[in-house]
Amino acid sequence: MDIMKESAFNGKGAPATFITDDSEAEINIMKKIWPSNSNFLFIFHVGQAVWRWLWDSKNGIPNDSRRQLMSYFQSILYAESPACAKEAYLNAIGYIGSCIPTYPLWNAYLMQMWNRTELRCLAFRDESVKGHNTNNFSEVAIRIFKDEVLSRVRAYNVITLIDFCSTTLEGYSTRRLQEFANSRNPGPRLFLEKMKKNSLDSRNPINPEHLKKIQCNESQFSVLSENITYFVDVLSACCSCSAGRLGKFCKHQFAVNYYYNICGKNFPAVGAKEKHEIACLPLGQEAPPVAFYQQFRLNSYDIPTLDSCIDGIAPSTTQSFTASPSSEHDIQLETNEQQEKLIKAFRDTLEKFDPSGPAMEKALMRLKKISSEGQCESMLATLSSNVSLKKSSGVAIRV
Ligand SMILES: [Zn+2]
Repeated sequence: MDIMKESAFNGKGAPATFITDDSEAEINIMKKIWPSNSNFLFIFHVGQAVWRWLWDSKNGIPNDSRRQLMSYFQSILYAESPACAKEAYLNAIGYIGSCIPTYPLWNAYLMQMWNRTELRCLAFRDESVKGHNTNNFSEVAIRIFKDEVLSRVRAYNVITLIDFCSTTLEGYSTRRLQEFANSRNPGPRLFLEKMKKNSLDSRNPINPEHLKKIQCNESQFSVLSENITYFVDVLSACCSCSAGRLGKFCKHQFAVNYYYNICGKNFPAVGAKEKHEIACLPLGQEAPPVAFYQQFRLNSYDIPTLDSCIDGIAPSTTQSFTASPSSEHDIQLETNEQQEKLIKAFRDTLEKFDPSGPAMEKALMRLKKISSEGQCESMLATLSSNVSLKKSSGVAIRV
């Protein structure tokens, strides 16, 4: 047992929290090896187990009460604080104000659940779970291995397995990491855009006057949102709202980042520094420098400077993550020059061939319909794509 404790995780300690299925053997062995670590149950499995119990005819719960009892259980499971969870529990067993008849077997089942409530209820979890209440990460790793490496085929000999692990899995991981580093994965950016919309563009936007720095601490802020004051601790990457309490990135943390340029460890990985670090995993020394990833800029959101993200504490400057003024000026000049060239080439072509009639009208109508940057880029990319750039005499399409 001690050998396992020392050798697991390369001897570098162990995670502070485990999220497991409701397997007693699994939980007991974890507790034996790492007694001080927290263990929580995969939240969906808890709900599924209760649902199965309710629909099991031997427990004698009438059909029309099952859904009601399930919603009582969910109010315990998703309660915001231990006190709320206790109140929901007492309500579910008919101790206070429950308007449906109680069932002895149901009460006994709930009591048994309540005795292990710390394992199950969200109210007893904190930011250490980093917003995760499922073991999806480990499950997806198995799925990737089955789908991508083994292609859902079960019969392999040992040599082939070793070969596939060292080539196919390696190739897959390399590709996915590079996709992320090269901004081919829009997930974090879209999540950030959503937070921005919730925080600044909603019916009750969070304005600079709604944020106050808590005097004694550089990393703590109070954020007034929809008449409720929330407390954000950037260093611990948590907030007092229901999502932030479990370590998720929320709109209040976004507001702190937006107005004070400070970001915590749970800030979506959209910065050049994060992308470079991810690229270093598959490419090592050959990874391009951080500056290469700075070119992947977000359209409508300036992300913080690299230095400001270190360990969640930042200088309170509001320098945006863009290219330096001189290089930005150069890029603008270059863009203007390209546009001028395009307009000139277009004008020259029109003057040379002097087209008229329906084709001109159609082109004009299409140009007027363009309403977004994407449509404009698409128009440019497909401009005269049907006109061959090179003419070779005697070329025929063979069939
Ligand atoms: Zn929050």
